[in-house]
Amino acid sequence: MVYCKTEEEIELIKESSLLVGKTLAEIARHIRPGVKTIFLDQLAEQFIRDHGAKPGFKGYNGFPYTLCISVNDQVVHGMPGERELKDGDIVSIDCGTLKNGYYGDSAYTFAVGHVNSGVAELMERTKQSLYLGIGQAVAGNRVGDIGFAVQSYVESYGYSVVRDLVGHGLGRKLHEKPEVPNYGKRGSGIKLLEGMVLAVEPMINLGTRRVIQENDGWTIRTADGSCSAHYEHDIVVRKGHAEILSTFDYIEEVLNREKQNG
Ligand code: MG
Ligand code: MG
Repeated sequence: MVYCKTEEEIELIKESSLLVGKTLAEIARHIRPGVKTIFLDQLAEQFIRDHGAKPGFKGYNGFPYTLCISVNDQVVHGMPGERELKDGDIVSIDCGTLKNGYYGDSAYTFAVGHVNSGVAELMERTKQSLYLGIGQAVAGNRVGDIGFAVQSYVESYGYSVVRDLVGHGLGRKLHEKPEVPNYGKRGSGIKLLEGMVLAVEPMINLGTRRVIQENDGWTIRTADGSCSAHYEHDIVVRKGHAEILSTFDYIEEVLNREKQNG
């Protein structure tokens, strides 16, 4: 069953999604070589609780942390810990919040110091593919139109789309129907209706699309050790356009300020 949300529900999901964006911006201020990923997790949990919400991932299926922090060849679901970020790493940070009974869920991949140009391009194009996918999330299209837009764009650069993990509906539950794959055929899958709220989240690899799970039972990494990038927005399907409920604006303000300060 796919639920279409009321405007009141959409407003609450937006509030939760915006808090995720603010949390990720708070984290962005602390991403630098030498920082431990567990420190970022603690910061995020405090920030979310200080804003009257709960971490959306903590306790979800037994996941013990607030953030999923996935470095380099880790695709998603990385566990925060004693690992220190190093210059040249990329780090995908996925965050969820639960506020007033509704979830927000958004992710962003950050460069740590200076990353090589091939990896920087992977990040930029993965983010671009997210917006191309969102552009197809309009009433009357089908879910396969989103996946087709993502896949055709990233594959034109020789990247690959992770198949084992997909986007999803979102609302009172963190994961609702429908599944939103980042690959697919135009005009295939369920029809998109006004008021459907979806988390669109391409996971794109420099090398093979194949992934493996680490022994911790959570972390997903690329099978060939190549880097992977991940960006995620929460959106609502509208007539003629998709409205983005989450935001990267707070994050990018921080990143631009840091760039200006050298
Ligand atoms: Mg997420
Ligand atoms: Mg998600």
